[in-house]
Amino acid sequence: MNIILLGPPGAGKGTQAARLVERYGMRQLSTGDMLRAAVKAETPTGLRVKAIMEAGELVSDDVVSTLISEELVALPQTVGIIFDGYPRTAAQARQLDEILARHHRKLDRVVELEVDEDALVERITGRFTCAHCGAGYHDKFKLPKNALHEDEPLRCDHCGSTDFKRRPDDNEETVRTRMAEYRAKTAPILPLYEERGIVVRVDGMADIDIVTQQIERVLGL
Ligand code: ADP
Ligand code: AMP
Repeated sequence: MNIILLGPPGAGKGTQAARLVERYGMRQLSTGDMLRAAVKAETPTGLRVKAIMEAGELVSDDVVSTLISEELVALPQTVGIIFDGYPRTAAQARQLDEILARHHRKLDRVVELEVDEDALVERITGRFTCAHCGAGYHDKFKLPKNALHEDEPLRCDHCGSTDFKRRPDDNEETVRTRMAEYRAKTAPILPLYEERGIVVRVDGMADIDIVTQQIERVLGL
């Protein structure tokens, strides 16, 4: 099964994708993660997109579609894909259709995470990840389990690392720009998928476990 997780920044796409990967062996393709890796490695693409990402604006359609296209080449046909943070514009949606057709894949579902915009700033400004394995956490909604022991340093539930990091674009000002970009350029691609009858919706404001259950239900997993 190939699906898109669609929703504004902080809706929970990465959190839910990680669970689908763990439980069903699907593959998460996050253009945001790929771009951050390129920035870190200081590749030509990374150097070009760094300032755009820090400002919360969208990088060019061709850059992200090329990244996706390259990933698909190496992916066995039997592995289902979760597109996370892509496509984000009508042009990217068209490019994705072409890429999937080239790889004899089809898009089965678009899962829209419906969220209340007011909650997103708190979600994003409280977000942090394990610097070692990338597991995602939140200051209030998802602390590592050992946070109950106040005298110990925080330890990642998955790999035990005590090293955590925050994204430079996870600040209130940039979040507002990212939300405006979502509203103006990404939300308008939904009708395209609605016409195909493949959009399913879940309540992204529910607890993390409940959202997962809803996604499993709408996907028939
Ligand atoms: P996205 O990938 O859509 O930008 P994330 O999955 O990174 O969003 O989630 C943003 C932050 O909100 C993370 O810190 C995550 O732990 C937290 N979070 C995700 N889903 C929920 C939820 N249903 N309720 C509360 N917090 C959540
Ligand atoms: P994300 O990790 O999905 O929140 O993305 C972080 C940033 O990377 C965004 O604010 C954009 O600058 C850039 N980005 C990620 N995916 C895309 C995309 N599909 N199209 C354009 N820009 C993207």
